[in-house]
Amino acid sequence: MHASADAPTADLAAAWQLVDHRSTAGTADPVVLDCARRLAADPDGEHAAEWVYGLLSMTRYLATRADDTTAGQVAEVLRTAAGALDGPPCDHRSHPYESALEQLDFDELELTGSAPDVVLLGNGTPTEADPAWQEPGTKEEYRCPHAVAVFARIAAEIIAPGSPQGIPERIPQHHEDCIEDLASVLHGYPSGGAEPAYEITAGAGLPAHPTTGALAGHLALLRAGCWEAASGTIRPRWVLDDMIGTLEDALRELAGATCSHGDGAHPELSGDPDTDAGTGYHLLTPGGRALLQRSYEDGIEDAPPAAWTCRAHLEALARDTLGHLTAARDRFFGERRTAYLDADCLRPDGTWDAARLAGVLRGAAEGEERTEDLGLWAARRFVGGSGTAHERLMLFLTVCHSLDLAYPDPPPSVYRELRPVLESAVAALPETCPHGDAHPGAGAGLPGEAGEHLAHLCAPESFAAPEGAREPDTWACPRNLAPLAEEWLEWCDTWDEAAEDGYGEDDD
Ligand SMILES: [Zn+2]
Ligand SMILES: [Zn+2]
Ligand SMILES: [Zn+2]
Repeated sequence: MHASADAPTADLAAAWQLVDHRSTAGTADPVVLDCARRLAADPDGEHAAEWVYGLLSMTRYLATRADDTTAGQVAEVLRTAAGALDGPPCDHRSHPYESALEQLDFDELELTGSAPDVVLLGNGTPTEADPAWQEPGTKEEYRCPHAVAVFARIAAEIIAPGSPQGIPERIPQHHEDCIEDLASVLHGYPSGGAEPAYEITAGAGLPAHPTTGALAGHLALLRAGCWEAASGTIRPRWVLDDMIGTLEDALRELAGATCSHGDGAHPELSGDPDTDAGTGYHLLTPGGRALLQRSYEDGIEDAPPAAWTCRAHLEALARDTLGHLTAARDRFFGERRTAYLDADCLRPDGTWDAARLAGVLRGAAEGEERTEDLGLWAARRFVGGSGTAHERLMLFLTVCHSLDLAYPDPPPSVYRELRPVLESAVAALPETCPHGDAHPGAGAGLPGEAGEHLAHLCAPESFAAPEGAREPDTWACPRNLAPLAEEWLEWCDTWDEAAEDGYGEDDD
């Protein structure tokens, strides 16, 4: 037995075990700095492996709680030791850090669990004769100076990211698929099995105690998904809620971050889906950042991991992304303001002005927020007021015209308020009418622009009849309006289903 020789290490290891993300500087700093001093005093000595694994096991504290001075000091000692340890190539076929890097799930702090039990490592009993040894490699592999050097670099990279040189370019196995799936959604052609809402939110859900690398990866992924999430093509509200919630969490973590980089030194995503999905996932892990570093040196990536992991940059990136997503959430789910359209559609005193509304109808364009607002404006006036039969017909057709022009599909903040207008036109239909198949719907199927037809119908004295114009009574006929209303109401049901779709986590 080597009990007496083991005793000091066992005492130290017991103290290391108490250091984690909950520790205070008062209790943890003396322990980590003692371990770092031992390593600095003998960076490639007999006990270097123990000190390196000790520091790796305390990385939860060092990467998420320690102040910059302590963290920077320990990372420096680890990187210096790695340089001293690394010698000529060994003849081991593999090393335990390889599987550790590849078996990561999402949080690089899982790597702290790769530190072996240093008491068993140093007890002199060979691996096969030591039933207590449970690690995935032999003691010899864990003691190999090359392996110790790489583990030292991994610990340093988690604590103070941005210098991944010397770390193998190995990424978690599932990240390859994640990158492909996200890129396919960003390209607009989701690969089989890729669910757009799920891929777009890949950056949501930070670890409870995020490292700077985790923040960088999550924020880059959220940035990559931001434009798609804000486009209105992805319908469930939880997509925006989850992304916004994560950005708010990140901003709390990053509050007050500063840096000495100048203007323009902070990177932006490239806009290329494959590159950007890779950047996001690769930033999450030490091996991924090593890959990014090489891509940068090869001229593929625009910025090195050191630029991405600047916390001041991450704070600015989070704030900007949050702005885009909250604006989108307000537009899709918030209270929409339409009063500004009064000035365009009505007389200054607020009374009906057929020629003005006709002009606005003629100019309404596909895919514009203003066109959505116009439908909502008409619905609010329809529900709120009386007006002549002609006025009410025009308001109803304005609602339908705005739906025809919506692209992508109108958001809940809009279509849910159109429902009562549509429902008012659902009626038992007369068996026959004099119009045959001359019903114009809301004008979308007529020759030329629907807006021209609606403008003429609204204000015939101001807007000449376009080719193929229909008589007013064909528009107003219940056999025109009721089927139109029913069709749009069915669409409203479809949109409601899409809004509730996916992964069931509608928290509110
Ligand atoms: Zn080796
Ligand atoms: Zn910076
Ligand atoms: Zn009819």
